[in-house]
Amino acid sequence: MARWLTMIWGRKVSSTVIGLVLVAICSASGTAFPDRPPAVPPSPPHANAATGSAAPTVSAVPTASAAPSVSAAPTASAAPGGPAGALPRPGEVGRIRARAGEALPVVSAIATKRKVVFLTIDDGWEQDPGFVRLVRERAVPITVFATRDAVEARGVPDPTAAGGRYVGAGKWSYFRELRDAGAPIEDHTLTHANLWRLGPDAQKHEICGSAKVIAREIGRRPVLFRPPFGNYTGTTLRVAKGCGLSAVLLWTASVQPGGKISYQTPDKRLHPGDILLLHFRAHLARDFRILLDKIERRGFALGDLSAYLRAGGVRLPAPSGGVPGNPPVG
Ligand SMILES: [Zn+2]
Repeated sequence: MARWLTMIWGRKVSSTVIGLVLVAICSASGTAFPDRPPAVPPSPPHANAATGSAAPTVSAVPTASAAPSVSAAPTASAAPGGPAGALPRPGEVGRIRARAGEALPVVSAIATKRKVVFLTIDDGWEQDPGFVRLVRERAVPITVFATRDAVEARGVPDPTAAGGRYVGAGKWSYFRELRDAGAPIEDHTLTHANLWRLGPDAQKHEICGSAKVIAREIGRRPVLFRPPFGNYTGTTLRVAKGCGLSAVLLWTASVQPGGKISYQTPDKRLHPGDILLLHFRAHLARDFRILLDKIERRGFALGDLSAYLRAGGVRLPAPSGGVPGNPPVG
């Protein structure tokens, strides 16, 4: 919605103004989705990356085995330990930078002209075992943003599920299986808190606490952060950086049960570089197959998000780990 408003009003409109309008709209509508479209992206989705001067300072990953179709059978991994996903070509990805005065880059979409999109799955209240098999068997590149309370089936269950329920949740082993299938498990807070309402210490507890739990349970410290509801402040960015995270990831479209895509753009189409948001639902495997077929029919490939972020200059560990400052945690 903010993207739409920004397009209507032009890029000079301050994010504060958009934020105030959106607060009013969201308050009036009384929505309570666990993740809804980013409420206050600080900029249009592509504004963090200058497409005109696409000259990544970080070496792009070789593209020899890039761009499998979305239905690619399991093949040699494009990246060690990860599934085959489209890899960026040299010079393809625009530079990704933090905005002036902000501690971390905030990424809603990847600046590329190539028909590639990225899949992210959030929370963890409902853990469909068929989804893990699908990711493994079709080598689908996904990025997971896990919420501790969802994964461990504590606190208030998914407010959008009928009656609120957990399905199969309570196990980090589900996320270890996803890790083994090549999915990075990233930070999405401890309790799915609305960070707009929290001070610095409480935000630190949510974000650093989540990073610590994931490191302990998954064996790797997260490097990306997604704020619940897309709600964050400048404090969030400083805190997240202090927790060792390298970028904040938002999204450009969400996927509803049944594989239906809810676009944030007026033209209701997929765009190169879009980041799609899904949730761990009871029938995720079924919905995911529908989505994969839809993406393929439209001629898009699925990209390796970490490789694209790295090509844009975001400091992330190499696929094999070991970049100073982000050591793997055993
Ligand atoms: Zn969420």
